[in-house]
Amino acid sequence: MKEHTGGCLCGAVRYAFTGEPRFVSLCHCTHCQKLSGGSYTINLLIQEQDFKQQGATALFEDSGDSGHPVQRHFCGDCGSHIFAKISSAPGKIVLKGGTLDHPNDFTPQAEIYTCRASEWLLPVEKTQRFDLGI
Ligand SMILES: [Zn+2]
Repeated sequence: MKEHTGGCLCGAVRYAFTGEPRFVSLCHCTHCQKLSGGSYTINLLIQEQDFKQQGATALFEDSGDSGHPVQRHFCGDCGSHIFAKISSAPGKIVLKGGTLDHPNDFTPQAEIYTCRASEWLLPVEKTQRFDLGI
């Protein structure tokens, strides 16, 4: 099975996972804008059991739109956001696609929280758009 790899900006945190993501989306919510410093994040929903991490991550306890806790795992050295765990999706992790070594291996299927999308940003072709989360 193909292994996909990635890591943070400084290289202190590296990861690998096997299998294909269940879902790939772009998220335009304000939390993703703040945590990335950009307009949106790329999110791959993968099985936690398929994911192996090298190097410790720092943790930030956030809360999602639903009010449920979201554990955000960062590199404590360079600050790259690597993945999140959402309490309402046990056994899954939301991997930030910008940290992949080969981000073009995956194409987004949907855009979410488009109500917050940058007004100058065109819709991505062949994606479903959702005003809020799904
Ligand atoms: Zn780092």
